[in-house]
Amino acid sequence: MHRRFIVAGNWKMHGSRDTVMRLVKGITDGAAVSSDIDIVLFPTYVHLAQVHALLQGTAIVCGAQNLYPGTQGAFTGEVSGPMLVDAGCCYALIGHSERRAILHEGLELVAAKFQAAQQAGLIPLLCVGETQAEREHKQTEQVIAQQLASVMEKVGAEAWSQAVIAYEPIWAIGTGLTATPEQAQHVHAFIRAYIAKQHVAIAGGIRILYGGSVKPDNAAQLFAMPDIDGGLIGGASLDAKSFLAICAAANKSAVMA
Ligand code: PEP
Repeated sequence: MHRRFIVAGNWKMHGSRDTVMRLVKGITDGAAVSSDIDIVLFPTYVHLAQVHALLQGTAIVCGAQNLYPGTQGAFTGEVSGPMLVDAGCCYALIGHSERRAILHEGLELVAAKFQAAQQAGLIPLLCVGETQAEREHKQTEQVIAQQLASVMEKVGAEAWSQAVIAYEPIWAIGTGLTATPEQAQHVHAFIRAYIAKQHVAIAGGIRILYGGSVKPDNAAQLFAMPDIDGGLIGGASLDAKSFLAICAAANKSAVMA
């Protein structure tokens, strides 16, 4: 089955109005050559409206790094799915490992956020992945199965048809360590097979991105693997040249597929 590649940039808590403007301009100036893939940018909440405005007239879309699972009300400091749609978002990152670890987001809350994103009309980009210790104890598949199961129990297997998954081994995020293409492929195939147990057709179509220190010099090998459908890029997405080089590598894989 043909799956359109996605390259997504997770800007985390970085940027000012000025750097955001220059980064988006750098990306949009060079992105036209990567027209066979989808490109998504995830700025902070405060830069969303600015980024959305700068992306007008391009094929690049933006998403939010988080949301609160409610529509409105007395939730000081939180932002809801409908508000993000109103600000121009198409996607929402759900369950990023930094939120699971630093903000103590548990399986139930992540599942509730996934559901809230879909109810608002956003495409959830669900992040799953294991720690170094879990990998060493050969618990990678068990941990990822649990992360997928908690979402599936909440929303049902059909919901995967309107979602994207990112496999992000926690030991590879921001560390400069990358899973080898074979290690990543193994887990991506496991994720697809796990979803296929519930729904074969949806499993064949769902896009599974790899994230964890993807750089211009390792992107092509990762994107050549059969179950890797693009990348979720942290550090390298803050530099237009690096991000565009990764987009170009994905575009090349897309064209060859
Ligand atoms: C991420 O934060 O999702 C990520 C993959 O970061 P990095 O590319 O910096 O490892």
